[in-house]
Order: sequence, then C-alpha cells, then structure tokens
Amino acid sequence: MPRTTDRLPFPYRPEAGVLAQRLAALQGALDWTAAATQAAPWVRAVRENPPPFWAMESLLKEYPISSAEGLALMRLAEALLRVPDAETAIALTADQLGRADFDGVADSTLARLSSTAIAMSKHFLPQAGSEPGLMVKLGAKSVVAATLRAVQLLGRQFVLGQTIEEGMKEAASARKRQSNLSFSFDMLGEGARTDADALRYLASYENAIAAIARTVDPKRAPSQNDGISIKLSALHPRYEDAQHERVMRELVPRVWTLCEGAAAANLNLTIDAEEVDRLELSLEVFEALARLVAQHCPQWQGFGLALQAYQTRAVELIEHVAALGRQHQLKFMCRLVKGAYWDAEIKRAQELGLPAYPVFTQKPHTDVSYLACARALLDAPDAIYPQFATHNAGTIAAILNMAMATGAQAGLGRPGAGLPKFELQRLHGMGEGIYREVLKNPAVSCRVYAPVGAHRDLLAYLVRRLLENGANSSFVHQLADESVGMDELLLSPLEQSKPAAMTASLPLPPDLYGSQRPNSQGLDLAVIAHRDPLLAAHAALVVPTVPEATAADAQAAVNKAVQAFAGWNHTPVAERTATLRRAADAMQQQLPRLCALLVKEAHKGWGDAVSEVREAIDFLRYYANDAERVMAPQTLPGPTGESNTLRLEGRGAWVCISPWNFPLAIFAGQVAAALATGNTVLAKPAEQTPAIALEAVKLLHAAGVPAGALQLLHGPGETVGASLVVQPGIAGVVFTGSTQVAKIIQRALAAKDGPIIPLIAETGGINAMLVDSTALPEQVADAVVQSAFRSAGQRCSALRLLCVHEAIADGVIEMIEGAAKELVAGDPAELATDLGPVIDAEAFDGITRHVQRLHKAAKPLLGDQPTAPTLPHLIAPQMFEVPSISAVTQEIFGPVLQVVRWGGDPMAVMQQINALGYGLTLGIQTRIDSRALALAGAARVGNVYVNRNMIGAVVGVQPFGGEGLSGTGPKAGGPHYLLRFCAEQTLTINTTAAGGNVALFTA
Ligand SMILES: Cc1cc2nc3c(=O)[nH]c(=O)nc-3n(C[C@H](O)[C@H](O)[C@H](O)COP(=O)(O)OP(=O)(O)OC[C@H]3O[C@@H](n4cnc5c(N)ncnc54)[C@H](O)[C@@H]3O)c2cc1C
Repeated sequence: MPRTTDRLPFPYRPEAGVLAQRLAALQGALDWTAAATQAAPWVRAVRENPPPFWAMESLLKEYPISSAEGLALMRLAEALLRVPDAETAIALTADQLGRADFDGVADSTLARLSSTAIAMSKHFLPQAGSEPGLMVKLGAKSVVAATLRAVQLLGRQFVLGQTIEEGMKEAASARKRQSNLSFSFDMLGEGARTDADALRYLASYENAIAAIARTVDPKRAPSQNDGISIKLSALHPRYEDAQHERVMRELVPRVWTLCEGAAAANLNLTIDAEEVDRLELSLEVFEALARLVAQHCPQWQGFGLALQAYQTRAVELIEHVAALGRQHQLKFMCRLVKGAYWDAEIKRAQELGLPAYPVFTQKPHTDVSYLACARALLDAPDAIYPQFATHNAGTIAAILNMAMATGAQAGLGRPGAGLPKFELQRLHGMGEGIYREVLKNPAVSCRVYAPVGAHRDLLAYLVRRLLENGANSSFVHQLADESVGMDELLLSPLEQSKPAAMTASLPLPPDLYGSQRPNSQGLDLAVIAHRDPLLAAHAALVVPTVPEATAADAQAAVNKAVQAFAGWNHTPVAERTATLRRAADAMQQQLPRLCALLVKEAHKGWGDAVSEVREAIDFLRYYANDAERVMAPQTLPGPTGESNTLRLEGRGAWVCISPWNFPLAIFAGQVAAALATGNTVLAKPAEQTPAIALEAVKLLHAAGVPAGALQLLHGPGETVGASLVVQPGIAGVVFTGSTQVAKIIQRALAAKDGPIIPLIAETGGINAMLVDSTALPEQVADAVVQSAFRSAGQRCSALRLLCVHEAIADGVIEMIEGAAKELVAGDPAELATDLGPVIDAEAFDGITRHVQRLHKAAKPLLGDQPTAPTLPHLIAPQMFEVPSISAVTQEIFGPVLQVVRWGGDPMAVMQQINALGYGLTLGIQTRIDSRALALAGAARVGNVYVNRNMIGAVVGVQPFGGEGLSGTGPKAGGPHYLLRFCAEQTLTINTTAAGGNVALFTA
C-alpha cells in the first residue's frame, strides 16, 4: 500500500514548543515534592547497603566514559572478546591498558582483575611498535587472559545466561529471592546484515518463545507471565524506511510467526524501540501485525511495543497506538523507556543537516517527556497496559504517585488483588538496589529485561549499557556517586525545564558551524513531508538541452573572460563573496529541483542527490568565507621606516573542467573558488551532465556574477576542453577526472609558450581499506558496502581494494557478500534503489571488460550477479578475491570490489598499498588506536578514515584531495585551496622617503 502521509507529526520541531506542551500536560497531575520524599529513603537505603553489583557501578563511576580509563574499559569490553588471534589481542590490550590508570579501584573481582592486568601490563605488554621478547610474549598472554576474564565478568553483569535455558534457570532462582518479578527475555543480536543472519535470529527467537511457553501458564494474563522482547532490525537485513514495501512483504510474516507462538502461550511479546528514522516503519509493521492479531487471536493482550520518551513525538505516538488499540478492540502492552540511542540520534541529525533534533537535547526535558508520556499511558487503560522501564528513583516515585492519583493499581498476582494495571521494568544488571527497595511494596511488580546469548554477541548491547552507566548525567551513575547529594539527585525535572528561557546545550544542525557560515540544510528521506517535494519536482522536470560550443567558441570565450577579468578582480571581495552566498541561498531554495535533475541526468540516487546539492551549497559559502580571510591584506613585520603588505588577487581567466560523477558539487566548487578569488571562469562540464551545470551557472548569474566572469562551454573534452587549455590567454586550469586526462592537460600546458600555467588536478585512486582482526564485522560490512557500491562505485573516493586480516577474513567476506546481495540495483528515481545505472555505454563497456578479466584472473565472490534487463547500463555489485595487493593495477570506476587477505605486520601491508602509487583515500578498521595512528602516519594518501566509511567528505570538515597519481592538491574544501588560484604581491613603501621617520620619533 503506498504511503501518502506520515503517521506522526513532523519529527524536527523546535524543542522549546514541545517541552511547553509536555509541561502543560503535567500541570496539576504531578506532585514532585511528594515523589522526591518517597524516593529519598530508597536512595539512602541503597547507599547504605549497596547491592552486590555495586562495585561495577563504582568502577564506572570512578572511570566514567569521559576518562581515558573509562574509554579503555569500554573499548576492551567492546572488542577483546571477538579477537581470534593472540598477537592482535596482545596489541589491543597493550594499546588500551597503556593509556589507563586503574589504581585504587573498588574492591571487586572485576576491579581486582583489572588492576592485576594493568599492573602486569606495565611489565609484560610490548610497547607499541617494539619487537616483544619471549618473556614479554609469555607474560603478555597472561595479561590478555586476565583482561579477557575481567571483560567476561563485565559482560556477565548484563547477560542473564548464554542460552535461553540458562537464562530461565537464573530467572527462576531470582524469583525465589523476590516474588514480584517477571522477565522479558531478549535474545542478543541486532542489525542483521544478511538474510542468513536474520533467519538465524528468527530461529533463536522461535526457540526462546517455545522454551518460555513450556514454563508459563497460558491461562494467566500476559502481564503475569514471562515474555520476550524482539528487535525488528535483527529479523530483516534491510529494515529501513526506503525498503518499506519489501519489509512489509518479508518482515511482517516473520514477526507474525513469533506473535502466533507468543499468543498461543499468552505471553508478552514486545517490539523494542530502535532508531528514530525507523519509527514510522516500525509503526507500519506494528499496525499490520495488530490487524492480524485482531483477526486471528483477538483475545491475546500480550502484543506490545517500546516507546522512547526522548523523542519529541512520543506523546503523539502513544495517542496513535491507543487509537489503534481502540480501532481493533485490542489492548497493547506498551513499555515506556527514555531511549538508548541518544548520541547516535544527535550525530545523525547533524550529519544530515536536519532542521532540528528529533530527540530532546537536555536530560531534564527527556525526564519531563517521560512523565508526560506516563500520564498519557495511564489515561488510556482501555487500550494500553503501561510498562514503565526506568532505573531512576525520582521517575519511579513520580509514576507511582501519578498512578495512585489515576486509581491504577500495580501488583503481580497478589491474592485477591485482581489484575494489575501497570508494571515497572528494569534491565538485568541495573537498578537492582533501587528496585530492592521499591519492591518491598508487594503491590508493585517489576519485569526484568534479560539479555540472553553468547558473550561474543553482547557487544552492541554492552556498549549501550556502559554508556548509560558511565555517563555523568545518568541516574545510576549519580546514585553510585556519594558526592551527589540527595537534593541534587532528586531535583525536579519540571523545575529544571524552562521553555521560555531555554538555552541550547547543543547547536542546532543548521548552526553547526557557528558564526562562520550556515550549514546547508538536508532532508530526512524517511519523512514523507521531506521527500514529497523531491518526487513532485522529479515528476515535473524536463531536462533542458544545452547547446554545444565549438572550438571556435572556446577562443572567443577566452577573449571575453580575459576582458572581464580586470572588472571582476577589482570588485571588492565582499561584493564577490556576497554573490556566492546569494547563489548558495538560491540553491538551498531550489534543492528539490536540483536533486531531481541529478537523478534524471546523472542517475544519482535520492540520498546521493541531496548530499551533492548540500555539498555545492557548502562550497559556495565556505569559499566565500575563505576568500575574505585569505584576500585580506596582511601587514608584515620588518625594519622601521617602511611598510610591508602582502596582498592576494586573481590570476586571470581559469578553465574549470569538472566530471560527471559530481556534476553539481565539483562544478560549483571549482567555479566558486576561482570566482571568489577574483578570477574569471570558463566552465567546461562533463559532456554527460551539462544541464545541471547550466542550472548552476544560471543561479550564479542571477545572484550577480557578470556574464563575462562566468561562461559555460559544453562540448566534448577532446575539442572544447582541449581547445580551452591551449588558449594563450588562460591563467590556470582546475581539473577533476582521470589521471590519464590530467596528464594530457599537463603536457598541453607544458608545451605552450608564455607563462607557466598552474594546474590543479584531482584524479582517481585505488583506494584501500585495511581491516585488522579487532574490527567489528558488522561495522566493516556497512562501511565496505557503502564505500564500494554506493553511487555504483562512481566516486573518486570509492573503495576498490579491501585488505582483510586472515583471522577474520572468512566471516567478514561472507557478511559483505550477504549484505551486497541485499542491495537493489535499478531505477535511481525509486527510493528503494541502492545502485543506479553507470553513467553511459562507454563506462558500462569498460567496467564489463574489467569484470570479464577478473573472472579469469581472480576468484569471483558474489557468483554471477545479474544486471536488470529492463535498464541499460546497470551493473550489480561485483566482488573478487585477488592473490595480492600488487595484482590490482588499475582503478575500475564502477561497483567492483577486489579483496585480498593479509597476515603479519599491518605496516608491511600499508607499504604495499603505498607502492600502488595512488594516494586518495584510505580506510582503516581497527580498535587499536595506536595502530590506526601509525598506519595513517605511514599512508601516502590525502584522506584517511578510521572505523567508518571512506566516502562523503564534507566541505571544511574533511578537505578532499590526494597525492601521487591521485592529484596535485591542494585539497578542495580546505584552507589552502584558494591560495593556488591567487597571484601574490608584496607592497613595500619607504615611509621615510618624504622627510624622515616620523613614526619612530613619535613612538
Ligand atoms: C526494561 C527496559 C527495556 C528497554 N528497552 C529499550 C528499547 O526498546 N529501546 C531503547 O531505546 N531503550 C530501551 N531501554 C533502555 C532505556 O532507554 C535506558 O535504560 C533508559 O533510557 C535509562 O533511563 P533511566 O530512567 O533508567 O535513567 P536516567 O539516568 O534517568 O535517564 C538516562 C536517559 O536520559 C536520556 N538522556 C541522557 N542525556 C540526555 C540529554 N542530554 N538530553 C536528552 N536526553 C538525555 C537518555 O535517554 C538516557 O538513556 C530499556 C530499558 C529498560 C529498563
């Protein structure tokens, strides 16, 4: 079913307005003083008599994640368990423990083990880069074993058992100690990258439901039985909004089989809440399942979902779910949480340049939202059974207060008490002390969220918990910190939330660059209100035809540009830059139309198109700012009696030759840099993409750039481009394209008489990614798939050569293969498409020839990937295992990845990569920080990316450009770029010429 409207309000609303609404909803509904009074004795009791796990929390209090030690602990916990080879495990442990100082930790097994490991590490662990002797090797193994043990203990803190049976046994014994407990088991694992992973997770959920079903009484209400929590991201490799049709087709039936099992046993099945951009999709899945429940098992009241109060749409979400329940006469179990992905949500909003954050940005605001949500849940008893998940004593007490006021009663199976109206929840390993006190009231019940699984699968979960416990603002952390007084700990969030006087704790995404320049604004394609204008622009767009220039036109244009130079060069910098800023604003306004043009003319996908328009806008604003900086005259120090000033100005008429793969961003970047510095421009776009270039030129002219200062010359490189380059009047050439054409231009320039003409060339690369055995396979798979196949591999920065450590190669390659097979190759105008066709027949033929050659010379990894028959020039992802790095000799400008295994010294691998002669981008995937820095230091490349993808450089943030065969520099979007476009002049004036040194006498 096509989606026409979003189910929920716009997610990027001003925070203060939403906060005011939430506070208004709580007016008269909450007595915080009473809540704090109720919570205070719990806090006192826990501090006086800490629970057994307290030492872990003290440890994290002592070493919060903001400290070197806390970070080391988290890094080790995240990585050490998965490192298969001893050598790398030693290097990782040495690297992380080397920067930590764990002296004086609390007295716990974990703490003791940590201190032992650290003390031993001083003697036994090799120094970074040194060759370890035998004693060191033997000792290092013991240190690693001790550290592993410490990390396992840390993991055990949060995992109930390695198998569901083990978990249920632990749960049963916990219930013996505390009767009003129930459990929601969570089978560890999330974010399936391949369908095989998703099916494996599905089987583990099915197995767990069957096991729980054997122990519960189906006649009891789901609120009284143990249950299960599931993550939709674990059950489908493409659980993302753009794939919603496929998700509805494939994921819904999978979850439905789980629902059927849960319904038959009458247990609670909750869908966990994940990232904000999946909320609408998860609701759609939830609605589809609710319809099935209503149809097939309307008596089941155990179906539910988790809701995140940190989302600014949380209350509306609750209203939506309640309405859904009423519509189908169902009652859902709704778990209210604050939300576990706060840092990731903030980063995503900043990266995408969204208008605001989808989550609250201050902790008390989330607390207020939580209470407003609690109120909304308690107000919908006909449709919702509320489950309040929190470890915060103040929040718990406030909820109990509100619940009492609304007449809702808690209680789990108390004789004669009837069914409870709500429950509290906590995570296994957290909040045990507070709940020990809260549960002394037998009318209150608590469900424990209990992760089950192998320690190896624990990592993503564990890191979230460590972030929670180690963050200064976390209640659990503050509770363990005796220096935080009771008043502070139980401060009213209502008092701390002042919408009218709200001061931002974080810059909004549009203000990311502060007073320097506005950030370009992007879109969230998961929001219909954001993507509709794009689709409408696409439907309305007719790609204009651009007349071709001839070689003779080139000569006339150069003459015109030479004539226009003096006028433009003498235009004050501020005026020139104002025109660029006006053009940037106009581009921002026309973003949908420009994106549509990129999709139609350059076969860009929507995400890439939006990023490209943003990059063009950023270039215009960045170079405008930077021109004002570099072109301001500089007074230079020197002897008295004279003044010395350095001034920059334009060189003359520049030829700007840009490629089809970034036909707007690179085009606009080159042109803006030349214009900002006072040069006039002859812009030669790629033959394949003249319409988008024409559009950019029109915008610049409309913004005030004179016609003579910027001329567009569309035509073949061999005629128009070549003829521009050889014109005697030109002052410089800036070129982005292949190394081969750059060399032709360089030779043509060298052969000319007259002045020596500067050439800025940004060319291609055999970009490598070096992965060691500490890397997280899922993160590697994401980074590889994006870097190698996004934009059909037609980026200069794209990954061409993956070098993966032999100890993890099989698993990593398998995961990448599985993930690559999930990619959709097709029409780029479709939102679901990951790879569009390559640019033209010539490119298609060239790539196809390479693929045929590789089929003979290397081992094909993806089988015969089909090309879609309906679309010409479509190439599905290709992957080959090659025997050595040196076997890769050419850049293949398409979705073709070559893979090589390595062992031994990573530095030797780096030298082999350097020996290829290219130097554009490099990816490094390792958790050994010192190794990442050493490799980056040894790499002869322009852009190094550690533990992320290696594409999508942002203007002013990751200045882009390489060395060697990859280009001349300076880097585009960096502080040195404009200087190459400038002529320099020093002006020395003898200030004593007219009668002596007045300044010296009067000083
Ligand atoms: C049973 C159970 C199930 C859970 N299931 C899920 C789930 O499905 N999905 C999910 O996302 N989480 C889930 N969680 C995790 C939950 O989000 C965290 O445990 C919870 O946020 C911690 O809140 P608290 O009230 O215990 O602690 P508090 O210390 O009071 O609150 C910490 C929370 O405040 C928020 N916060 C922190 N800093 C800021 C800031 N600067 N601005 C705004 N907000 C901020 C964050 O949400 C942070 O987690 C679950 C938790 C439990 C107990």
